[in-house]
Amino acid sequence: MKIGFIGLGNMGLPMAINLLKAGHEVTGFDLVQGQIEAFAKAGGKVAKSANATADGADVVISMLPASRHVEGLYLGANGLLTNANPKTLLIDCSTISPKVAQAVAAEAKAKGFAMVDAPVSGGTAGAQAGTLTFMVGGENSVVECIRPILEKMGKNIFHAGGSGAGQTVKVCNNMLLGIQMLGTSEALRLGIANGMDPKVLSDIMSKSSGRNWALELYNPCPGVMENVPSSKDYAGGFGVDLMLKDMGLAIENAQDLGASVPLGELSRQLYESHSKAGNGQLDFSSVFNLKD
Ligand code: NAD
Repeated sequence: MKIGFIGLGNMGLPMAINLLKAGHEVTGFDLVQGQIEAFAKAGGKVAKSANATADGADVVISMLPASRHVEGLYLGANGLLTNANPKTLLIDCSTISPKVAQAVAAEAKAKGFAMVDAPVSGGTAGAQAGTLTFMVGGENSVVECIRPILEKMGKNIFHAGGSGAGQTVKVCNNMLLGIQMLGTSEALRLGIANGMDPKVLSDIMSKSSGRNWALELYNPCPGVMENVPSSKDYAGGFGVDLMLKDMGLAIENAQDLGASVPLGELSRQLYESHSKAGNGQLDFSSVFNLKD
């Protein structure tokens, strides 16, 4: 199967590499030269533009930062929906607004394309290991058709519902993750202020009712765990600005529906102030060092 891959960043690059390892012909594009070079080194074919990745492709996958990038890629006179062959299956794995995902998929359908939203969870480690969780929104027949491709990049492939449902699940999940990371950081800092060893504290809480993903697998306190961003000066991983974007998606979604998310809103404000203090590019677990 020939696959076009657009957006070879922290997540897209290892995902595309897993497709190459599975024997697919993958043609990729990114705006950053270093990412293109890393992709080419891994055996990928480099396209001259985003639209060119779709030439002769059975499937095009996009993994871009935010809603506006996805709208820019697919819509408009220069967009993929105008330039690609409608037989190409379209999979957007970016985390974006459910509303935008539905609008882009509706435009795709109107132009004869099948498109799904398929955001992921599992971080850069999951992307590298091919163990991501995919949350897919779209028609059942399309989801079943692309399942073998997603299985090359992930372990759990969930069909969440119709168009936009994958993004809805992702928005809920990431709001909870953002809140959990702040809560975990607060608890660790309180223990440390009491003179506790953060590793001992983490080990005990991980076997107690405060256990959660941030504490057990992505501990925000430097030195507690190897191979997580907190032990690498918060480099790589999932950026503060991306988490801030996802918290914003949750708040926007809640406002649209009149749903109440007070903890989500407070957490969004805390990520915003951490970003404004110059930490936007660090991993989101750096909120451990959030200044009051
Ligand atoms: P990233 O910023 O590392 O990568 C995005 C890439 O898209 C960049 O390399 C950028 O140059 C490229 N890009 C932007 N516009 C483009 C265009 N028009 N054409 C081609 N390339 C373009 O971000 P990431 O960490 O890979 O995240 C990608 C998406 O996945 C985001 O929506 C994020 O919220 C989501 N996500 C990230 C993680 C994580 O742990 N990093 C986990 C789950 C989901």
